[in-house]
Amino acid sequence: MIDIETFTAQAKEWLDNNAEPRTTNDHGQREMAWGEGEFSVSVFHNLTFEEEKAVIDGAVGWTRKKAEVGYHKITWEPEYGGMGLSKEHEKAFHQLEAKYITPDGHETHSVTTHLMAPSIKLLGTEQQKKDWVASWAAAEELCCQLFSEPGAGSDLANVSTKADRDGDEWILNGQKVWSSGAQFSPWGMAVCRTNTDIPKHKGITVFIVPMDAPGLEVRQIRQMSGGTSFNEVFFTDVRVPDAYRVGDIGEGWKVALTVLGFERGSSNGSSRVGGNWAQAKGLAQHLGVTSDPVVRDDLARLYSQYRIMALNNQRVAAQTKAGQAPGPEGSISKMIWVKSMNLMSDVITKILGPRITADTGEWGTYEWNEHLLGAPGYRIAGGSDEIQRNIVGERVLGLPGEPRTDKNVPFKDIPK
Ligand SMILES: Cc1cc2nc3c(=O)[nH]c(=O)nc-3n(C[C@H](O)[C@H](O)[C@H](O)COP(=O)(O)OP(=O)(O)OC[C@H]3O[C@@H](n4cnc5c(N)ncnc54)[C@H](O)[C@@H]3O)c2cc1C
Repeated sequence: MIDIETFTAQAKEWLDNNAEPRTTNDHGQREMAWGEGEFSVSVFHNLTFEEEKAVIDGAVGWTRKKAEVGYHKITWEPEYGGMGLSKEHEKAFHQLEAKYITPDGHETHSVTTHLMAPSIKLLGTEQQKKDWVASWAAAEELCCQLFSEPGAGSDLANVSTKADRDGDEWILNGQKVWSSGAQFSPWGMAVCRTNTDIPKHKGITVFIVPMDAPGLEVRQIRQMSGGTSFNEVFFTDVRVPDAYRVGDIGEGWKVALTVLGFERGSSNGSSRVGGNWAQAKGLAQHLGVTSDPVVRDDLARLYSQYRIMALNNQRVAAQTKAGQAPGPEGSISKMIWVKSMNLMSDVITKILGPRITADTGEWGTYEWNEHLLGAPGYRIAGGSDEIQRNIVGERVLGLPGEPRTDKNVPFKDIPK
């Protein structure tokens, strides 16, 4: 195996040839010159279809470029496009990559590469692995997550989108909601009900669905931050081949938990979404409020919160390096990240006052409105705060489990 020093030298040369270096401070955050360049602290994209597509194309383009060498999946086996190297190699590359200006990420891109590709790699048939793993890992095609429904979110096992067998095919009927990026994805992973006579967790099966299948309709939802990243997805007699079933019939809960496990493992604030400390400090300095004792107090709290998040991320990275599988700690990371982001919104709102509600054209001010309207979304996405607390309560603190009145009750007998 190539040693870290040689690998790092080669990676640096590749990055030098393919990206521009960025200026960073001691914490790896981008130094900012107030008033210069673009200013973005948005949590969700507030963009037209074409603009959002351009963001996706940027993220996809960078992953495809890395995939030419294998830098997108350094620890993966070469048969899936990876380099077959260690986590240390991967960490070395990520540390190096953070020093370069790379395109912004997009949720659907990371869902495909970090959730869907590894889940199929773990649980797919040989044909599914051949067809989708390398392609999705390299973002050649995107796959969205068709999990939530109007009656099934936190309680995902309550899904009622039906899949009925018809020879070598399945016929899907029902509705999904909050499907991020469904309008950009040729594929979706749908969690469906295949048996209503047994308890809810046992009658679920998962399918990969071509999003252009006849009978499948995607409708965009307008969110309060202005954009339309989410969709409702309706299925009317949508036919899916049995070859697209992931896992055994009735084993869909295991598949869904595998995907959600990858989701919690990646929701830790290591992404660049939603602004950073340097931007918050820059704003306070620009407005000349850094000697106000109340603002100083708020800024100190904010700084501490972001440092705690960084230290926690280091702890999780060390656990991963030591070979420990991501466990309930993923919930702690997610809660810290969400708390940090929402504290940022609170502090900035106080500093900005009315400027956060009206666009005066002043650089780096009204843009925070997008942060304020987007941050609460992550209190819900990927498992709400309350659900994360339940996980920590039950699995870390060993508190008694929640009362579950529908345990062992056939799905069809659960009051709806
Ligand atoms: C930004 C974003 C992106 C998303 N992307 C996708 C996607 O791509 N695909 C997809 O399938 N879904 C997606 N979702 C949906 C998301 O998974 C659900 O919104 C989430 O699971 C919560 O479900 P719900 O909205 O039905 O709320 P509910 O489950 O109805 O919860 C409502 C409230 O009740 C609380 N609550 C529920 N159960 C309990 C309990 N047992 N104990 C204590 N409190 C409880 C919740 O915390 C919440 O405050 C996305 C959501 C957001 C916000």
